[in-house]
Amino acid sequence: QLKNSTIKAELGQSSWKLLHTMMARFPEHPTQDEKEALRNFIYLFSRLYPCGECAQEFQAILAKHPPQVSSREAASQWACAVHNIVNKRLQKEMFDCGKIADKYKCGC
Ligand code: FAD
Repeated sequence: QLKNSTIKAELGQSSWKLLHTMMARFPEHPTQDEKEALRNFIYLFSRLYPCGECAQEFQAILAKHPPQVSSREAASQWACAVHNIVNKRLQKEMFDCGKIADKYKCGC
């Protein structure tokens, strides 16, 4: 059980890192195609996320808070907000979404 929760936490940390970094690199002025790509990615991610319970919870969050794909800023703030919803449910600290741009840089 302890091992499983460690694996789940590591998967979560890596996944959030990927998601937030993707948002930080999303175009400031995305094309219609880029917007569709991000929206599709997020919905597919929520279906395929390899922790069943997490995937189910995340799909319920998406139903109430659909992905915001109109710009880098909108997408980054959306991802920060949904991560905070998960944090709250897991009784973790809230993250200050005003600091999101400083935290996620991809170095590419
Ligand atoms: P994490 O939440 O993994 O965060 C990693 C780092 O990101 C933090 O240390 C902080 O620096 C930064 N951060 C924190 N909040 C934000 C924010 N709002 N925006 C940007 N950066 C932030 N676990 C479960 O047990 N049950 C679940 O139902 C569940 N659902 C999940 C759903 C999804 C889509 C994902 C990706 C993960 C889910 N997890 C779930 C895993 C959980 O969210 C954590 O990743 C895991 O518990 C490890 O937590 P952590 O304290 O290391 O920090």
